[in-house]
Order: sequence, then C-alpha cells, then structure tokens
Amino acid sequence: MKHLFFGGIHPNYNKEMSTVVTTFHTIEPKQVVIPMVQHIGAPCQPLVQVGDVVKRGQKIGDGEGLCVPVHASVSGKVIAVEPRPHIRGGEVMAVVIENDFQDTAIEFVKNDLPLEELDADDVLHSIREAGIVGMGGAAFPGNVKALSSMGKVDTLIANACECEPYITADDSLLRTDPEHVLEGMMILRQVLKPERVVLAVEDNKAEAIEKIKALQSDFPQIELKVLPTRYPQGAEKQLVQALTGREVPPASLPASVGCAVFNVSTFAAIYRAVRLGLPLTQRIVTISGEAIKEPQNFIVRIGTRFYDLIEKAGGLNDLTERVISGGPMMGFAQSDLSVPVIKATNSILCLLKDKNGAAENPVCLRCGKCVGVCPMRLQPLYMYRFVNANRVDELNRLNVMDCIECGSCAFTCPGKLPLVETFRKGKKMVREASAK
Ligand code: SF4
Ligand code: SF4
Repeated sequence: MKHLFFGGIHPNYNKEMSTVVTTFHTIEPKQVVIPMVQHIGAPCQPLVQVGDVVKRGQKIGDGEGLCVPVHASVSGKVIAVEPRPHIRGGEVMAVVIENDFQDTAIEFVKNDLPLEELDADDVLHSIREAGIVGMGGAAFPGNVKALSSMGKVDTLIANACECEPYITADDSLLRTDPEHVLEGMMILRQVLKPERVVLAVEDNKAEAIEKIKALQSDFPQIELKVLPTRYPQGAEKQLVQALTGREVPPASLPASVGCAVFNVSTFAAIYRAVRLGLPLTQRIVTISGEAIKEPQNFIVRIGTRFYDLIEKAGGLNDLTERVISGGPMMGFAQSDLSVPVIKATNSILCLLKDKNGAAENPVCLRCGKCVGVCPMRLQPLYMYRFVNANRVDELNRLNVMDCIECGSCAFTCPGKLPLVETFRKGKKMVREASAK
C-alpha cells in the first residue's frame, strides 16, 4: 500500500555537485574546538584543563541527566577552555586542542559477542559512552531515544532520505560503507525487538540503493524501501507516515505510533561504538554550493573549524553571499566561520548572492500556496501575521510549535516572506510566554 505525507515540495536538489569527487578526503586541522553543547539536553562540563595532554577518543566533557559525553578528536594539548562561537548562535564553553599530529589514541575495547548475546543495557551504555546523538541534525542523545523506544515500537526505521538539497553525506556513507549501517540496525533490532526493520531511501540515490541491495541476502531481516523523492520526506513524522500510513499526533514523537527513527549515520556510529569501542569523534560532512570551489564530502574530525574545511575545499568564490550550517531549507546561516563542526553537522553550504532571492519589501499576496505545501498542515500566512503582531494566544491556537522549520512554505512563497525565521521567533515567543 502506498502512503504519502501531506504537502511537500520538489526543489532543485543539486546533489550531483558534491558527488563528482568519489573518494573521501580527510583534513588534519592544526586545532580543534570541541563545544560542550552538541546535543539536545544538558550541556557537558569540561573534564580537562589548559595544559592537559589528551589522546584521541579521550572523554573531555560529560554531564548528568539528558547528556552524552564529548571526546577529543585529535591527540594533543589543551590550549583553552573557554566560550567559543557555536553554529546555533552565541558562544558556548569549548575545549580547544592543539593537534600534535601523532593521532595517539586511547585503547578501544572491541565486542565480538554474537548478536543474540548482546545485552540491551550494555548496548545502551556503549551508545551513551560513545557520545552518540542523532546525526541527521536533531542531535538527540541516542541512548535516551533507544531507551524510551523499548517496549513501545513495532517498527525501527533507518532514515536515509537526506531530502535537503545539496547534502550527500548519508548518500556517501551508504555508497562507501553500507555494511556498518546495516550492522548498526541489527544491533538496535536486538535491543528494541521490533516486528519490522526498514531502511528508507529516496529514489534519487541509485548507487546507494544498489549497494544495499547487494547486501540484502546477508541481512534478510531488513526491508529496503525506496521512496519517491519529495521534500521534507526525511523529517521524522513525514517519513513515518510515508512508510506506515500512521500520523504522529501534534506535540508527539514517532514512538507514540510505534516507530523509532534513527539516521543512517547514527546507525553506523552505533556499530562503531558497540563493536569497535569507538567514540563519536568524526563524521562525513558535505561541503557544497555554487560558492565553494571544490564541492565534495570530507571525513571530518569533530571540532574542525568551518574555515579550515572551506580552505581545504578550494576556498570561497568572491561573490559568496552566505555560508550555512546544514541545508538551504533548514540550515543556519553563519556569520563567523571559526565555528566548529559538531556531531550533527552534515553539511556546510556556500551560496552565491542570487541563490537566496530575499525580497527587500516582502509582502503577503494571500495566495495560500504556503498552506498547500506545509507538511504539518499549518497556516503559515496567519502564523506570520500573528508573530509580527506579538499575538502568542493566536500562535498557540495555530499550533506554531508544530512547525518543523522545513522551509517548504518559504520556498513556495511568491511574496518572498522570511517565514522560517519568523516562525523560529514565534516559537521562542511561545516558549518564553509558557515559562512565565
Ligand atoms: S505563500 Fe506567501 S504570499 Fe502566499 S499566502 Fe503564503 S505567505 Fe502569503
Ligand atoms: S516551515 Fe513550518 S509552517 Fe512552513 S511549511 Fe514547514 S512546517 Fe509548515
């Protein structure tokens, strides 16, 4: 049976730009800046001081509650523990390590136990200690998501949709290392014991699909589902609906309808943590857009600063208008390129001026196009009006908090209204009002 989610759009995907270079380049930064905030929840507290010598994989920050640790991604000397710029704006406490280029690592403890002998608590502990978070952008602690899904879900979903334009990090992972993704899925299957395990991928990733198909006989428990490409199919609620026909209620999580969704990069990280004892200290990052000279995917150590990566990719075009962390639809514009790659950074997008098309005097034409594409069935035109009128009561009535900031409305808006920025502001207004 074919399921569809409501709304959505078909932007130019521009994915081929970063997949022309088929081998990964790595980058050895002179310095890494490791923020103590890389996940949703409580920040880590630094566990090291200036002058300490650290090894790759050493825990350098941790905390209580909804918190997972952070680790050194290079070996070297701690040269600062101080607030530094963060991709989400402002400054957060960070540990700065000067790379000694020795790559001295802690001892990583492997686990070769047969799958059926893996203990759920041990797996969750390994996931936590490795600092694993949702790597598709959400950055929710992986162990907490898995624990809260136990006994509640009948469907485990690996999300390889990667529906935002330009980004090909997950696609590159599946083309080069599909086994680790599938092994990671089998590990969580052992923990959650769902009836159905699905790897969902959009049909614009032909090579990745072939690579997975070639492995399917080794993983008969995993169902491959190829979905027609449509944005924002990679959003959790839309993906759940597309795969199962179940609608996640407002203000609820996929577990409320029996589903747990993890990004494919997260599954590969789970494999490396549980089987190889490796903490999350590196990831694949797409650097793309018309303003970067050599778009491609890199394997990047967490904490590498944006400008080091941009330089490695040939540098910026003189007409660069903006650099975004993430994709063009849901990403965050960066004004300071000393910000570091964090665990959830899947892309650095560099755009020329004419790609953004912001109007100088945006005006709502009351065309209603935004309503027709909103996958959350919201009413963007009225939300826009009530944010600007400071009407928190109306924003609550219109369920502004359900906005997933996908940008479909802004993409389709002929009046070029700054809708997503306005809804982020509106959500902040609602949060502040409810905290009073
Ligand atoms: S798409 Fe833009 S112009 Fe049209 S109703 Fe929505 S906000 Fe107004
Ligand atoms: S950004 Fe929010 S309001 Fe706009 S289409 Fe996406 S979910 Fe709907």
